[in-house]
Amino acid sequence: MNYETDVVVVGAGPVGLFAVFECGMVKLNCHVVDALDAVGGQCAALYPEKPIYDVPGHPSILAADLIERLKEQAAPFAPTYHLGRQMTGLERAGEAWRCTLSDGTTITAKAVIVAAGGGAFGPNRPPLDGIEAYEGKGPGAGVAYFVTRREDYRGKRVVIAGGGDSAVDWAISLAEVAEKIMVVHRRPKFRAAPESEARLKALADAGTIELVVPYQLHSLEGEGGKLSAVVVATLGGQTRRLEADALLPFFGLATELGPIAEWGLGMDRNLITVDPATMATTAPGILAAGDICTYPGKLKLILAGFAEAARAAHTAHDVAHPGEALHFER
Ligand code: FAD
Repeated sequence: MNYETDVVVVGAGPVGLFAVFECGMVKLNCHVVDALDAVGGQCAALYPEKPIYDVPGHPSILAADLIERLKEQAAPFAPTYHLGRQMTGLERAGEAWRCTLSDGTTITAKAVIVAAGGGAFGPNRPPLDGIEAYEGKGPGAGVAYFVTRREDYRGKRVVIAGGGDSAVDWAISLAEVAEKIMVVHRRPKFRAAPESEARLKALADAGTIELVVPYQLHSLEGEGGKLSAVVVATLGGQTRRLEADALLPFFGLATELGPIAEWGLGMDRNLITVDPATMATTAPGILAAGDICTYPGKLKLILAGFAEAARAAHTAHDVAHPGEALHFER
């Protein structure tokens, strides 16, 4: 199939979805491409049931609910979704751009907004001997890198490893359902939002969560792939055995850019460099927003991505309608 449109949005994560809305507001039609089978990017694929606390106007919103609302917000502008397909090729076609998808579909667009997050993503796995034997053991059991359903951990003894936002937010959330939550971190200071860290420490003071610090993961114990304990160690080699049903290591994601690296765009450490005043990349008419883009002072947050999507949509308008002033007021 061959299509023509104003804008192709690469990535249906929160930023791509909001870009559709912003494009709609300036009367641009969008086709949205995502390699995943469902919209929502990291929010839907990695942490649908995690509460997000830093979306303006929502003191707390589950990631899956945020995605539903963004989809709803974009719906009046009738975007065409191409899901389960990767965008592989991007080449100039006169004044426009031809986008090629992995199933051979082509879409010719006046502008392209790349909101591809980290590209293809996967978890950083801790280097523990025999860890594979405990992975993929089903809901709430063994070693898992993402929580898709909080309920899976009801009544379970859960070790959470890591000191960032995911470890802290999940510890707070799962403490409501799990029998026991133990948070293993190599130092007493966490790298989470200060407010979340304060909530974690309050739960620890109340005895709801056990902070196992300063410790690191050392080894796993169990039989036939059934986890029974996580052994942790101090830097000095002193060990401790934590009886557990599940281990959730949250050591961040390793990302693989995929075909985007071949599109000839200016890059800095696997991110697309943009002018933050326009979100323009080094190629005319190709814009980038969200986690995939970088510029001095870039914040990898959903709310920063939303503002970038708005900026990119306005630039896309200028590309699609050169010389036509955008009279924009809300
Ligand atoms: P993504 O959500 O990564 O979406 C990009 C999409 O592009 C993906 O669906 C991918 O499949 C698709 N894609 C990539 N390459 C291609 C291609 N070539 N063809 C087709 N599709 C492609 N941020 C906050 O602000 N608050 C939080 O509380 C928060 N908590 C987080 C918790 C966790 C566990 C994680 C992992 C992240 C968290 N973040 C949080 C970060 C937030 O999720 C990201 O900043 C946000 O998802 C970025 O949105 P995006 O749309 O730019 O990219």
